[in-house]
Amino acid sequence: MAVITESAIRELAAIRGERSPITSCYLDVDGRRLARYPDLEHEVDLLLRGAKVRANGEQSVHSDLTRIGRLVRGGIDRSRTRGLAIFACADQDLWEVIELPVRVHSQVVINHVPAVGQLESVLRENEPIGVLLVDRQRAEMYVFELGELVGHSEHFDDLPRDEGPRGQSDRGGHTNQAEARVHQHLKSAAKVAFEVYQEHEFAHLVVGAPEPLAADLTAHLHPYLVARLASQRLGVGVGASHDQVLAAAQAMETTLERRREAALVGRLRDAAASGGRAVLGLPGVLEALGTKRLGQLVVSRGFAAPGWRCDGCDSFVAIGRLCKRCGEEMVEVDDIVEEAVEAALASSCRVEICVDNADLDVMGRIGAFLRY
Ligand SMILES: [Zn+2]
Repeated sequence: MAVITESAIRELAAIRGERSPITSCYLDVDGRRLARYPDLEHEVDLLLRGAKVRANGEQSVHSDLTRIGRLVRGGIDRSRTRGLAIFACADQDLWEVIELPVRVHSQVVINHVPAVGQLESVLRENEPIGVLLVDRQRAEMYVFELGELVGHSEHFDDLPRDEGPRGQSDRGGHTNQAEARVHQHLKSAAKVAFEVYQEHEFAHLVVGAPEPLAADLTAHLHPYLVARLASQRLGVGVGASHDQVLAAAQAMETTLERRREAALVGRLRDAAASGGRAVLGLPGVLEALGTKRLGQLVVSRGFAAPGWRCDGCDSFVAIGRLCKRCGEEMVEVDDIVEEAVEAALASSCRVEICVDNADLDVMGRIGAFLRY
């Protein structure tokens, strides 16, 4: 499977359909959603048929869509693949199929650039996450990347019988000794976590441990891990199955992502309100993009709007047809937002696609931080 990296996405984003448009196709092939393969084939068929209508007789795009249909009819191994991203342009010998272990939103985009927005989101929302589960005698460390287990380690410190896993020693004199043992155990757990981190780096660490242990554990964690500590309230504990741990980690990742988006939108609103380096709304964003002032783009998922693209001066506007900047006749495009996202990515701007953020929706569903 091709590994999706930030640089791979930027390489894709830099491709241009010189003679013919590029076909970008995302397919949700999740076997848990559509268990019967013929149902998937039928769904893809409908999607491609709709795209062929939009292809407007472009031969190259027709070939791309036909080839995508063949790929799906040929069978997809869905044991590990839940999403597909396909970038094609028959005219340019471009054919790139990326298998993803996570779902995507099915769509076909026909444009002069590849539509990499969803790939970017997948990458952003599936940063490697470390999970540390600890009780009074066991420690388990997991690392998941793109929904798959890439690292795992366990540690066990046997407790004397009378202390048991609950650690409630009846004999008062032994309490200090018992506490010292737990202390030692947490130290070992923290060490295991850091060893795993050195093997498989992760962006976030979440901890599942009973309340009194969690705080103690943090004191023993390596500073690198403390810096990545996102939550100590994972809904699962030691002994949970791999699937349960993964599900809890992914739910946590989604929560963290939404929180991060909310903070970003808050900063954007404040910057715009105080006359800082930020703009809100589509016209302002397109203007910033055209004048190369765009720093970071923030957009609501699903936001689309028709508009115009000027190939004369590489700019985008909401209203055509003649370019105010260079006087050229512009090209009408179905979705100027998608164009703006691709252009921003291609020029190495960061793009944040926010999900269900009501604040951003009120602000016009799109905004940007400016370079100057
Ligand atoms: Zn122009």
